[in-house]
Amino acid sequence: MASADAQFNNRLLEIILADSAEGVVVVDWRGNVRQVNQALCFQLGHHRQELIGRNVRRFIDRTANPEDILDRMVDGLWFGGFWQGVLGLLRKDGQGVTLRVRCNAVLPEQGRVRFYSGQLTRSLPVDSHDDPESHPSSGLDPLTGLANLVLFEDRLQQAVTQARRKGVSVGIMFLDLDRFKLINDSLGHSMGDRMLIEVAKRLSKCLRTSDSVARVGADEFALLLTDMDDGAGPVRNAGVVARKVYEILHLPLELQGQEVEVSAAMGITLFPQDGDSVGEIMKHAATALAHAKKKGRNSYQFFSAEMTETARRRFDLENRLRGAIERDEMLLYYQPQVDLANGRVIGAEALVRWKPKGEKLISPADFIPVAEESGLIVPIGEWVLETAIRQLAAWRDMGLPPIRVGVNLSAVQFKRQDLAGLVERLIKKYQVDPTHLDLEITESAIMEDVKRAVEILNRINDLGVKLSIDDFGTGYSSLSQLRQFPFKTLKIDRSFVRDIHQNSGDAAIVSAIIAMAHSLNQTVVVEGLETPDQLTILRNLRCNEMQGFLFSAAVPADQLTTMLREGKTLEG
Ligand code: C2E
Ligand code: MG
Ligand code: MG
Repeated sequence: MASADAQFNNRLLEIILADSAEGVVVVDWRGNVRQVNQALCFQLGHHRQELIGRNVRRFIDRTANPEDILDRMVDGLWFGGFWQGVLGLLRKDGQGVTLRVRCNAVLPEQGRVRFYSGQLTRSLPVDSHDDPESHPSSGLDPLTGLANLVLFEDRLQQAVTQARRKGVSVGIMFLDLDRFKLINDSLGHSMGDRMLIEVAKRLSKCLRTSDSVARVGADEFALLLTDMDDGAGPVRNAGVVARKVYEILHLPLELQGQEVEVSAAMGITLFPQDGDSVGEIMKHAATALAHAKKKGRNSYQFFSAEMTETARRRFDLENRLRGAIERDEMLLYYQPQVDLANGRVIGAEALVRWKPKGEKLISPADFIPVAEESGLIVPIGEWVLETAIRQLAAWRDMGLPPIRVGVNLSAVQFKRQDLAGLVERLIKKYQVDPTHLDLEITESAIMEDVKRAVEILNRINDLGVKLSIDDFGTGYSSLSQLRQFPFKTLKIDRSFVRDIHQNSGDAAIVSAIIAMAHSLNQTVVVEGLETPDQLTILRNLRCNEMQGFLFSAAVPADQLTTMLREGKTLEG
């Protein structure tokens, strides 16, 4: 319990520090930086990793401070445990920045001060350096505590500079609350203020630590989005944030016992896609916002029509995906897996399909990423797991030779739900042999949080359920890293097999993977086998099982039942 409390407190501290508009630093007794928050990284234009471990002296601008500034600081800390003043520091781009600094010695635990904490805020240049009086911190909106327009532009400039160097994108989103004036006029200014404060809080929740939010006008807010390139790419990511903002604003808000609806128009631009300077993307974001407002409440608009369309298609897909299970639109297909020793079917991988009424089948490659981003993968994954286990029980009841059924798990399911508990419950419910269930997981899903993954996978393994590593070779983990996980099977990704008959490099890699997997007592399954040539090679390399169009694509359950009844084998 105590450790849960401590964990919670640590987490709280992290959140407070991450959200703080003030720069915060923890320095050890040698003057080496041990911790910094995002605000300080922004102020100095450095990445976290570039600050941690470095000595603070490196960041002090010798030309901008009195010569004895460090001595005075050390004296203050040594004798009084405290120093405050104004310090000229060097940003990464070589420019000077003047910050108001307050330092404290962290109270010693065992008789010796080991850490110092510092809070740094932007400061207008002043003459005197040591200065016991604190000025109000500039750059902040007094009502909401968010950054104001000046600070926002400053941060945007820094983000753009960094993005230009790294060749990545930055997004900005302008928001204008719908009908704010009406609320202000009808419910009074203090209610208007409360609404703004609440909106500020909600927007802050939508952001990742490197992003920031500002109040840039009476009822206008701006979001700065960095790191837009990971995952689905900048347009999709901006769309996802727009979606989150939309949802969080829409939560009920009570003012004076009255429920008020909050909504906003949003205009979105991306650097460098929509302009190559801060001025240009700010201008275009305002244009996009104006367009969105014209279209009516609650709408958003990218600066370019094409981007708006891309994002809209994605939302549309997400909306249709919501409720697809209830509408009975999900199907589970099974792709047979064949034992290369005797050509018999010994397993099948369950692969989900989506068939909206009156439309063609939609491939999981198109909707699983959307399901993952929106969290819909949790109910969909549960449905898949239950359907597959129910099918396993049905095949057993038909008296067919037992086969193993593989089910794919997504990283999101790992994070959001008690997977081991779910698996256990379903196995009990359908009374199936746990060794006939095989859960497929990709490297990337477990590498995100190794400790947690090991724990969950061990619990699942203890149930007797098999675990497979899927798409092996596409991630960056090595087999030796994977040794700590209880995998029984390794599935070689299809990309290695495609050209294996003409690419001796691929053959060598596959050969090495198989040898290593065998030394760990793992069974090796090759995916995507399409030709007899590939089959011959994989057989010679001592691969254990195959799955691919050469034998069969994924088929509905009843077709697999027929194959099992007829005892179809690889060699026909
Ligand atoms: P995966 O788990 O690697 O599944 C294998 C994919 O390769 C399947 O595509 C399968 O139809 C395809 N395939 C099999 N043999 C061949 C072949 O000989 N040639 C070619 N060109 N392709 C072959 P599918 O069904 O489109 O699934 C794509 C991915 O979607 C899966 O890759 C898996 O990552 C994901 N997925 C599918 N069903 C689920 C599910 O229920 N849950 C989750 N989380 N992901 C799923
Ligand atoms: Mg798979
Ligand atoms: Mg695979």
